[in-house]
Parts: sequence; C-alpha cells; structure tokens
Amino acid sequence: MFESLSQRLQNALGALRGKGRLTEADIAQAMREVRLALLEADVNFKVVSRFSIRATERCSAAEVLNSLTPAQNVVKVVLDELTDMLGGQTQTLELAQNKHPNVVMLVGLQGSGKTTACAKLAYLLKSQGKRPLLAACDVYRPAAADQLETLGRELDIPVYRGDGHNPLAIATESLAHATSTMRDVVIVDTAGRLHIDDAMMDEMYQLKVALEPDEILMVIDAMIGQDALNVAHAFAEKVDFDGVILSKMDGDARGGAALSVRETTGKPIKFISMGEKPDSLEPLHPDRLARRILG
Ligand code: GDP
Repeated sequence: MFESLSQRLQNALGALRGKGRLTEADIAQAMREVRLALLEADVNFKVVSRFSIRATERCSAAEVLNSLTPAQNVVKVVLDELTDMLGGQTQTLELAQNKHPNVVMLVGLQGSGKTTACAKLAYLLKSQGKRPLLAACDVYRPAAADQLETLGRELDIPVYRGDGHNPLAIATESLAHATSTMRDVVIVDTAGRLHIDDAMMDEMYQLKVALEPDEILMVIDAMIGQDALNVAHAFAEKVDFDGVILSKMDGDARGGAALSVRETTGKPIKFISMGEKPDSLEPLHPDRLARRILG
C-alpha cells in the first residue's frame, strides 16, 4: 500500500531540490503535484482540498521562502500535514482504571477483519500483561464463533460463547464470566453484515447500552476505498464509536481512503493491521506512517 503515492510525492518534492530559493510559483507547482498524487491515491477530495490550503499557506510563509534549504522545509510541511491527516498524536486504548472488567467492543461490516482483529487485540493486550476474555457475539456468520475459538485456542486466550444465539445474553454473561475467572478485559466480537441495516445497528446500540464499553472500535477494511468512509459515517451516526482499527493495510489498494478516515469521521485511527498473523496489529503512529509514505 502507498507505493505509488510515495513515488509521486517523491517526484513532486524532488523537483524542488537544488533550487536555491523558491518562488510562489515553484510552491504552487509542487502543491499541484502533491494534490494530484493524493487524489490519484484515492484520498477523499475534501481532505485533499483542506490539506492543500493548509500546506500552501505554510509553504508560502517567509521562513520557507527565505530559508537556506527551502526544499527540505517544504518536505517538512508535507510531512507535518500528512501526520495531522492521520490524527497527529498516537492514540491508545482508554481503559478505565477502576473498572473490572474493562470492555472493548469491535464493530464493522462482515469481512472487514473484525473477528481476527478481536483475537489480535486480545493477543496485544495479553503481551502487555492483561488477562483478556473474548466474547463471541457475532451469531449470524455461522463460522465466526468457531473461528474465534480456534484463534483463542492458538493464543491461549479463553472464548465465551454462551448459548450461541442471543448476542445480548452472551455479552452480559461474558462480563460475569470474566469476573469469576479473573479476566480483566472482555473483547466483544459483534455481528457483521454485508451491508448496514437497521437490525444490525439496533443490536449494536443495545449492546452498547448493556455493556457500557470503555471503547468501541470500528474495524475498517483499508482495501474498500471510498466506500469505507460512507460505512464509517453510518456507524458513527448510530453507534458513535471511539476509534478505528484499519485492517488489511498490507494490501495493494491505493490506500488513500484509509488516509481520509480520520478527517472525515473525526475519530482517531488507533490500530492498523498489517497481515493475518496474530501479531500483525499495532498502534498507529501517525508520524511514522507519514514518514513511510514520504519515503
Ligand atoms: P469479519 O467477517 O469482519 O469477522 O472478518 P474476518 O476477521 O473473518 O476476516 C476476513 C478475512 O480477512 C480473513 O481471511 C482474515 O484472515 C483476513 N484479514 C483480516 N485482517 C487482515 C489483514 O490485516 N491483512 C490481511 N492480509 N488479511 C486480513
């Protein structure tokens, strides 16, 4: 992901190298190239337009125009703006200190990578000394609970399945089960459908009211392009999630939609998933990803 964006950005900014001074026209030309590169990478056009206005303003400031290495300063502006586009600061899970167990609920469309993300997140928390329990509340995709159980077994993390039919009952029982088995964080896998529908949203909402999760994370498939933004909008309106897990960031999509998620939803991207293995979930560090994109 991002290879062709990286290449185009490097070309656009590389053209400034070696110039002793930059004129407004040089900057306008470079920004035009940067804008085209972002649009071609499928970054949302409103996000590109805001990026372009801010970056051009900052590049036109005296310290860039008059600095000794103007090209480097332009690169820095683009890097800073990309970092901001991705949310600026690294955002972590916010689990209440005095609550047992903590609850993290994952939502998203079927196929987004939600079930595997539950297991990966449990694995990450376990590696940080937590004692997670997985709750299998996706009762509509027949294989989801089995998949979660298999993953749990591989990672030595228990899975609560309850009666396998009633998501609300499974979820609430899982909290009591966590308490009685000394588990300190419950990660809830919820229903994923192929399309957003009212029944799905109602169920999410009921789970939210019943569980009062510390965090609701929406899993978004980075490969699905601009559709991801519409889906995220619909979820944000109904469930008001706290953050995003971007899955399949190892894919070969252009990646721009993923870069637009933060600005279009207003929700932080907390984790990215870079593969199918349990250890492929990592916190998003906006500055590092921006640097990787700029090459
Ligand atoms: P769910 O329907 O949302 O629960 O989706 P799953 O968790 O079952 O994932 C759907 C498919 O995507 C599975 O084959 C996963 O192995 C795969 N998958 C999930 N996350 C990633 C990722 O970050 N990278 C890659 N390459 N595949 C992933």
